[in-house]
Formats: sequence, C-alpha cells, structure tokens
Amino acid sequence: MPEDSRSAWDFGAELRALDAAQLRRTRRVVEAYDGARLRIDGRDMLAFCGNDYLGLAQHPALVQAAREAAGRWGVGATASPLVCGHSRAHEELERELAAFVGLPRALYFYAGFPANAGLVPALAGRGDAVFSDALNHACLIDGARLSRAEVQVYAHRDVEDLARRLQACTARRRLITTDAVFSMDGSVAPLRELLELAERFDALLLVDDAHGFGVLGPGGAGSAAACGLRSPRLLYMATLGKAAGVAGAFVAGSDEAVEFLMQRTRSYIFATAAPAMIAETLRASLRVIADESWRRERLRELVGMVRGHAHWPASWRLGDSGTPVQPLILGSNQAALEAMRELWDQGLWVPAIRPPTVPEGSARLRLSLSAAHEPEDLRRLLRAVERIGG
Ligand SMILES: *Cc1c(COP(=O)(O)O)cnc(C)c1O
Repeated sequence: MPEDSRSAWDFGAELRALDAAQLRRTRRVVEAYDGARLRIDGRDMLAFCGNDYLGLAQHPALVQAAREAAGRWGVGATASPLVCGHSRAHEELERELAAFVGLPRALYFYAGFPANAGLVPALAGRGDAVFSDALNHACLIDGARLSRAEVQVYAHRDVEDLARRLQACTARRRLITTDAVFSMDGSVAPLRELLELAERFDALLLVDDAHGFGVLGPGGAGSAAACGLRSPRLLYMATLGKAAGVAGAFVAGSDEAVEFLMQRTRSYIFATAAPAMIAETLRASLRVIADESWRRERLRELVGMVRGHAHWPASWRLGDSGTPVQPLILGSNQAALEAMRELWDQGLWVPAIRPPTVPEGSARLRLSLSAAHEPEDLRRLLRAVERIGG
C-alpha cells in the first residue's frame, strides 16, 4: 500500500472502519467435513450454516461417481463450452436437469453467481427495464447493474407494488427477477402471481431457485414445479452447490429461450466449462435426490421442530419461513455476534448475518437445516439457545 498519506488507497483505514462497525468478516479453516459435523482447530463443531440441505456433499454414491469420472475424463474441461469444453457428460446432465424440473431445455453453468450476472444482461439492455425484488441475491442485483437497463426495485414480495411499476413503465422490454426462496429469510416468492403479471405486461420472469431446488416441489423438482408453473415466459435458474451437494448452476426454459441464452450470455461463452467429472457427479446427485426422498422428509421434520419451538429469548424474532433457512432476528450486529459466540463456545456453529447482507437493524442468526442433522442435533441447539435467553 502507498505510504503517502494523501493517497486515495488507504486499505488500513478501510479495514479499521469495518472493525469499528463490527463488520469485518473472517474465515474459519475447516479440517474435515462429515455431514453437519466439521472439524475446526482440532474441535468437532455441529454446524447449522451450510447449504448442503440434503446432506449430499459427502454422499458415497457421489464420491464414487467423481472418482470414476476423474478416471474417465480427467479433471479439467480444457476450454469454454462453445469451443471444446462441452462433453457428453455435460450434454447428458443438461438433458437430465431439464427433465428433472419439467422444462424443455437446460443450460449448465460452472457456478450460480456468474450465471445470473450473465443471464440478466443477456436478457435486458439499454432501453429495457429490470424489476428486482428488494431482497434479491447479490448476483441478480449485479446482473441488473451490468445490463444497463433501467432497474426498478420493488418492495419485497409486494405484487401490487410490482404491478404499479409495470403499469407505469414505458421501457421496450420488461424482465422480472426474483429469488424463489430468499437466502437470508427463507421466505418464498409469490411465483404464481409474478408469472401472471409477466403475462399481463408482456414481461419475462427469471426465478433464482438456489435454495428450493432439490428441497421443494415434487421429488425436489424445485419452487416452480411446486406451483405447477409452466410458461414460455418463465426462466428457471437454480444452483447445484447447495442441495445438490456439488457445484454449478443451470437455467431452464423454452428451447428457443435457452438457445438464445447460450448465444448471448457472456459468462457462459467466455468462461472455461466446469470439469466433466463435476457434470458426472451431478448426474449421480440427481439420481440420489430422486431416490432418497427420506432426506426431504427429514428436512420437513426439522423445520416443524423449529416452527413449533416456543422458548426463544424475548428480544429475538423467528422470521416467517417454511423452508430449511430459519432466520432468528436479533436486530443489532453486536447482539447477533454475541449469540453466535456463545453458541460457538458450546460447539455449535450458527452464523451471524449482518448488513449489508441483510437490511440495517436486522442482524440475525441464520439457522440452516440439513438432512445431515439428526433431530437430536437440533434439540441440542434449541436447548443451547434457551440458555442464552435465560
Ligand atoms: C448461493 C446463491 C447463488 C450463487 O450460486 P453459486 O453457485 O454459489 O455461485 C445465487 N443465488 C442465490 C439466491 C444463492 O443463494
């Protein structure tokens, strides 16, 4: 860093400002993963922070598929998909993903963030308008910014606010973007109403189902399938590093829309494809998601235990969520951090989420449930939370 005190590049001052606001983030080094049990600094922690909702990240069938695929395909994709990075494994995965969610065609990406950051600008540009839920994930927000379209942020899950904005909008084309399950709240978007608005106002609806795919809907087919949505105006995007337990993302929709996105999405075209071994591992994951429905049943049982729990500390508020993301809203950054530390000392890892990830004044513990948890694991956490309150 420049020594000159007049320099505009004072990283030290920036970091001190983060410290002062209790916003400095740190990483823990995990030495071993075993479902929800993580080894950190030689200590076994029971984690409620991962997004491995179905507990598949170390599933033997997936590990075996990865081994075999590495033997067959090697470990690197060698190029972008439109050059020579698109293997038979990727092709089959896309076919299976489309069938899994009940849509005509799917396009597989190496990760969800670049997928959305590329999809939104492929769909909307100057002279168009993007309508974005106020709590959308950062990658949808960045995609909207990159698009150069006019961005209209509508109130969280507020269909009337969105309708007013669509009505008043004179842009050439309109794109509505929403998380299906909001990542820090666990709340669910009114997808059916949003699609109705898309139809009424000649708009497209891009749904990010990062937290619903594999978990919600028949057989884990996701949030759109849960509502029975099927429309050429629907583009369904989901990620594969969460419930699917591996890595990557996909967008699915009509044949023509997906073909168009393949032609126009810069983060697809100009990036090295995911390794074929990852694609093969995902194919194994889709089979497990379909076959082992007990994992979704376990999740429902755990969610029911949290919703039915009556002894939360008086100043805490359990957010309204029926999904494996259960927010415990404490308000101040300091209260959330202190609660996290108290649980940590008892071997329980529940992350504190602070602004700017969540709105100012709504710092929270984000409790994330997984089929890798036993009911007794959750009871242990609930008892520990009661002791914080008492
Ligand atoms: C995690 C997440 C993403 C990003 O997906 P990655 O595959 O992790 O890059 C996108 N959208 C939402 C809502 C997410 O929670």
